[in-house]
Amino acid sequence: MRSQNTLSNLHNLIKFMEYANTNLGFKWKSRVDNDILLQERNIVANCTLCELSKTRHNSVFGDGTPDAEIMLIGEGPGETEDLTGHPFVGRSGKLLTKLLLSLGIKRESIYIANIIKCRPPGNRNPLPTEISNCSHYLYRQIEIIKPKLLFGLGKFAASFLFGSDLPIGKLRGKFIRKNGILTGCSYHPAYLLRNPSAAEIVKKDLKMAIEKINHE
Ligand code: URA
Repeated sequence: MRSQNTLSNLHNLIKFMEYANTNLGFKWKSRVDNDILLQERNIVANCTLCELSKTRHNSVFGDGTPDAEIMLIGEGPGETEDLTGHPFVGRSGKLLTKLLLSLGIKRESIYIANIIKCRPPGNRNPLPTEISNCSHYLYRQIEIIKPKLLFGLGKFAASFLFGSDLPIGKLRGKFIRKNGILTGCSYHPAYLLRNPSAAEIVKKDLKMAIEKINHE
């Protein structure tokens, strides 16, 4: 009973802070968003909506600042992500971090999440049912963070964001608006591990996307 009261008080406080941010010019946004994201993270950590919950070590909610203007979307956790609970921290993640730094972007200044929050066994492709069971978590993250740019990495993220079955090679370099948010995509860092020369293309795509939001 007591913990229910505490939760409801917290909920009311968050609602009031949201109201004050929007209507009274207060700057509590990042604090409020952090709290809401934390609540969402806990929900995801306890999620049992699909079979992946039985084999995961950790769910991988996402990392970054709630104030992020740029939100990168990957496919789903791999082995290192599953073991640590953080996105893009394995081999391809290290490459992504380097690539971002070469553009002057620190990971902490953006937000990084995946379409699915739990690792498929053996890193197999996510099933359509896994994506549809999980995607509402990502939509909620986007709703809370309200980035200026959504940028998909790899074919799953690109298909998901663009609602298209076209190959990534045809989607990259294109932009759409998703609920008003500029949305683009490029190759997955894992592809860059196999094709290092494609890193320049990803840099070019991301740079173009950032220039677009900077000119909005
Ligand atoms: N690949 C992804 O798509 N996401 C991660 O977090 C790690 C590897």
